[in-house]
Formats: sequence, C-alpha cells, structure tokens
Amino acid sequence: MHRFFISPELLAQTSRPSLHRVMLPAAVAHQVRDVLRLTPGEHVVLLDNSGDEIEARIVQTGRSGVEVEIVERRKGRSEGCLRLVLYQGLLKSARFEWILEKGTELGISAFVPLRCQRSQIGLEELGATKVQRWQRILQEAAEQCGRTRLPALLPVRSLSQALAELPADALIVMPWEQERRLSLRAALRACRRQVHEALAMGGPLTVALFIGPEGGLAPEEVALARECGALIVSLGPRILRAETAALVAAASILYEYEDEEEQTGETG
Ligand code: SAH
Repeated sequence: MHRFFISPELLAQTSRPSLHRVMLPAAVAHQVRDVLRLTPGEHVVLLDNSGDEIEARIVQTGRSGVEVEIVERRKGRSEGCLRLVLYQGLLKSARFEWILEKGTELGISAFVPLRCQRSQIGLEELGATKVQRWQRILQEAAEQCGRTRLPALLPVRSLSQALAELPADALIVMPWEQERRLSLRAALRACRRQVHEALAMGGPLTVALFIGPEGGLAPEEVALARECGALIVSLGPRILRAETAALVAAASILYEYEDEEEQTGETG
C-alpha cells in the first residue's frame, strides 16, 4: 500500500465520529491521481508523524481533489525507543543527501550537521531551500521504507554545543580514523547490558554517533568528546569515506541493540 506523510491537523478532524472523510492535500492528491493513478476503492496509508498508521480508502479522484475515507488507525511498528542521532561533520551536499536517504532507511532518528575544525568552509549556510529539499528527501525515504515517524533534521551545531545538549544517559560513539585499540564492535558489546537495561526501563535511550567530515576529526575534537564520555572507536584498518563510515556505524549500532529493544518490547 502506498504511504504518505500528511500534516497532523488534516487528520485531527477524524477524531470526530461524524467526519470520516478528508480531502488529501494537493501534493499528495497529485501523487495519488496523476502519478500512481490510483482509483476509487484502492487503499492508501496516511502517516501523521504520531507513530500510527491510518489506512484510508479512496472515495473519489477528481479535478477538484482526492477524497478518502478513514478505515482504521493503528499503531505502527517501525519506531522503537532506541534513538540513534547522527552528528555528521559537514560534507558536500550530495554526500550529505545520500546519508539522509540511506540513514532514514536504516532507522536513524535525527540528523544533525556538525561544524568541525576541518569541515569545508561554505557549507555551513543551510538556506531555506536546501533545508526544504533535505526534508523532502527524509520524507520520501521514510514513506518508502515504512517508517511512521519522520526523522528530525536539526540545525547545524558545533561539537561543544552538540556534546553539551545530550541527555546525561546518552551513549556517545565517535569513530576516529586514528583510533587503533578499541573497535566499534568491542565498544558496543561492552555497553550491551547498560543499553538493555535502559531499554527495559522503557527508554528512550539516545545513542549519539559522531562522524567527522572528509578532512577527518582533529585531535582536540576527539579529546573534547572523550572528556564528555564518548567512546572513541575504530571502524577497522581502512579509511572509509565519511558517508560510508556513518552508515556502517549506524547499521552496526542498530544491529547490536535493536533486537534487544524488540525483546524488551515484547516482554514488557
Ligand atoms: N581525511 C581523513 C579521513 C576522514 S574519514 C584521513 O585521511 O585520515 C571521515 C570520518 O569517517 C572520520 O572522521 C571518522 O569519523 C570516520 N572514519 C572513517 N574511517 C574510519 C575508521 N577506519 N575508523 C574510525 N572512523 C573512521
């Protein structure tokens, strides 16, 4: 079934028992009618960013718009209480966009562009057009992969700002290309119990992942993160491009911890 994020206000009306029909917003109506050519009787899933899925049946598709009838609101299953936040050293836009798309598919909850000592100058200015474009990438990826909540795109931060605003119990992971002793795998396994316990308490638990820019992380930046309790880890003997490092580390974190979450969800 095709899935579309819509504004929560549109569906707020549906809590009134007498009003089960809504007109889809113009952009979604265009997709439904002109691009996908869906017809009356077919069903779609509407997402209001609440974590629920709202199944709706198309009633009519006309030039004036597309009307749907709400069939059912149900709990979505794709979002858990592990909150993986990627702080990504600023990159060229195309590479950052790739991270937004793939990171959304993997399950990253929030993306924060990070201003680092070696970030390329000029990319810090995130104009409104770029932010809109990036939001659209997140939305399309979230619809495609079946998420019920949109990952957040937060404003650019410096490393010290980012570290200062993390919750006290956040697990901070910083892969550093010069780290030789501690592997990401060993670090994640050492924290398994702590993560399991936090998730068993109902979370949410933030795991903050810091990835450097193309120029890498400066030793002072690594030292600052270490002081704040970050685990400085290696992703192996090869230097990965920043976007590869981001996705490999995100996938590894979710691989280690996400099943714990499902188990605790089932038992609790
Ligand atoms: N220009 C740097 C590499 C930067 S890679 C150099 O040539 O040394 C960009 C970011 O990806 C790094 O800052 C780090 O966060 C991550 N990264 C890439 N490869 C890594 C590895 N083998 N171990 C740990 N982190 C790595």
